[in-house]
Amino acid sequence: SVRGSALMELLQSAKLADVLYDVRGPALTRAKELESAGHPILKLNIGNPAPFGFEAPPELLEDIIANLPASQGYSDSKGILSARRAVAQDAQRKGIPDVDVDDVYLGNGVSELIAMSLQALLNDGDEVLIPAPDYPLWTAVTSLAGGRAVHYRCDESSDWQPDVEDLASKVTERTKAIVVINPNNPTGAVYGRPVLEAIAEVARRHELLLLADEIYDRILYDDAEHVSLGAVAPDVLTLTFNGLSKAYRVAGFRSGWMTVSGPKRHAASYIEGLDLLANMRLCPNVPAQHAIQAALGGYQSIHDLVLPGGRLLEQRDVTWRMLEEIPGVSCVKPRGALYCFPRLDPEVYPVKDDRKLILDLLEEQHVLVVQGTGFNWPDPDHFRIVTLPRVDQLEDAIGRIREFLEGRDWG
Ligand code: PLP
Repeated sequence: SVRGSALMELLQSAKLADVLYDVRGPALTRAKELESAGHPILKLNIGNPAPFGFEAPPELLEDIIANLPASQGYSDSKGILSARRAVAQDAQRKGIPDVDVDDVYLGNGVSELIAMSLQALLNDGDEVLIPAPDYPLWTAVTSLAGGRAVHYRCDESSDWQPDVEDLASKVTERTKAIVVINPNNPTGAVYGRPVLEAIAEVARRHELLLLADEIYDRILYDDAEHVSLGAVAPDVLTLTFNGLSKAYRVAGFRSGWMTVSGPKRHAASYIEGLDLLANMRLCPNVPAQHAIQAALGGYQSIHDLVLPGGRLLEQRDVTWRMLEEIPGVSCVKPRGALYCFPRLDPEVYPVKDDRKLILDLLEEQHVLVVQGTGFNWPDPDHFRIVTLPRVDQLEDAIGRIREFLEGRDWG
């Protein structure tokens, strides 16, 4: 009936109206259709190492297998003790002070913990300062939790370092937290200590929570060094996020962790809220929790991939160089993570709608990337490409991107 269909139209929650997650958006749906029709697609849209031939450290799989029979029941809602102990020790190694096993929460990927951290924090209309460009889950979850994402700019002309002046100018009465993604997705920037100290100072001055997403902290190139935000802000309440998806190449296991550091005694009610949310989800996937101690305590094979001669370093180099060689395209060289975020000079490529641009690239060249506005970048002049494929695939894909850009009628 007409009445029935009108009701069905109202089924979707209005809370989703501002929620954007284009890393797996309409272009991926179209890519799947093209694939079903027999067209292979070069998928450079998601930071998922395993399908590109990366393997997990073997001891990590061995520990999961050995512990599988003992993983049939729910665990403690924060996670198993051996894994939380390993995370607490890792925090100490990173200079994040005073992290005890009770300050560690395991989750089904960092994604679940991002949701918990913001759900426990936000009242309707509360603001969270989030970088632009960002990993869009932070903005999406803020909206879904009733908050308002306020974006501070990262400065492309300064190697994509956060513009702390812009950040400080956007603090209001409603601001509750600052999100820092370091190393950054999508830009690959690794932040220096002075910038982190300046951000910590803003948080200190306004009594804001720091949310430090450091999932790429071991994926560093050249001479890049990672400094944990929690280590430069021992007196500021800080949640630090990390997991197994990237450096340990098991994104499918959905395993991550979050630590709470800083003046915890002043945040007892927020921590109570985190505990409540952890209890409500019962516990994270138990078999995957057994991989955490093996991962953090084992041989760090990620180093072999990012040091000279390593596959990830070589792929970063090829991707960056080939993008830079395209006339009208420039790219800040990433110093960490798994992505390049090139700029299309608007004088050469006057893009009006970058979502349409990448859909056209997909149709014409069967290459899938993500448009810059999908990362809450305000202008339609960037896209993100992952550096995970082997060199021959990258050369093929970037060659096709070049052909597409140069062959298009920009008039
Ligand atoms: N944070 C950042 C910056 C990411 O890039 C990703 C995944 O791409 C995540 C969090 C989510 O990771 P997980 O697989 O642990 O949920």
